[in-house]
Amino acid sequence: MKNVLITGATSGIGNKIAEILSNSYNVFKTGRRELNQENYFRCDLSNCSSIDKLVNSAKDYFKDSIDILINCAGQYIYKPIEKMTPAETDYLLNLNFKSAYLLSGAVIPDMKQKKWGRIVNIGSISGMVGEGQATLYSATKSALSGFTRALALEVAEFNITVNQINPGWVETPLADCLDETEKQEVIDVTPQKRFIEPVEIANLVKYLISEEAKGLTGQNINLCAGLSIGC
Ligand code: NAD
Repeated sequence: MKNVLITGATSGIGNKIAEILSNSYNVFKTGRRELNQENYFRCDLSNCSSIDKLVNSAKDYFKDSIDILINCAGQYIYKPIEKMTPAETDYLLNLNFKSAYLLSGAVIPDMKQKKWGRIVNIGSISGMVGEGQATLYSATKSALSGFTRALALEVAEFNITVNQINPGWVETPLADCLDETEKQEVIDVTPQKRFIEPVEIANLVKYLISEEAKGLTGQNINLCAGLSIGC
């Protein structure tokens, strides 16, 4: 069985990805919560010094290297640019972009050696079309999508694929920042008139890491109930 490291696996989308992949992969999870599980390491990914500790914990658990990395951890900040503090700016850049960049760099050497690997980044539709009041969130997800394309090129000849899923609104704790009126507004502006379910993202991840998807690399896939195509 292949070994998968999933960040942001304690909640929402990452939790569902872990649940679905657990049937056919060895899964190692990380998140911010305290969990007493053998295949879990708690860490704050906004702190770059956590990266090596996380990778070493996963490798100790697998007694092998990481074949598949799912970068799902992330947060959303909704406020005008002039209200963003330097500390919040560093935090979001580190968590939403830099951790995925550094983790990818940490797992690529083993993948190159095995001549096989999969990386899936969870971006956002806000990184594809831009979202006012969420400028830094949008920018971190845009950075991730540029990184996805560039890294895919760099490692293509090693049979390593790198792809990104950009969800529209998904019903998870992250979306709890919306009140009932705002949730209805989201439904009204979404062409399919609904939120995405975490299981839809998890099933696409499952396909992207499969052997069948070996020719699919460097792609940004908008799984957004039509939100990115206009109204
Ligand atoms: P969530 O709040 O349910 O889960 C977030 C996960 O990230 C948790 O496991 C949490 O522990 C982890 N995390 C948060 N801050 C962390 C930190 N500092 N260090 C380590 N781990 C941390 O949110 P979700 O909706 O499942 O979001 C998952 C991903 O999907 C995020 O990258 C988010 O940007 C993206 N996304 C979500 C939506 C949505 O509407 N829910 C839409 C588009 C993209």
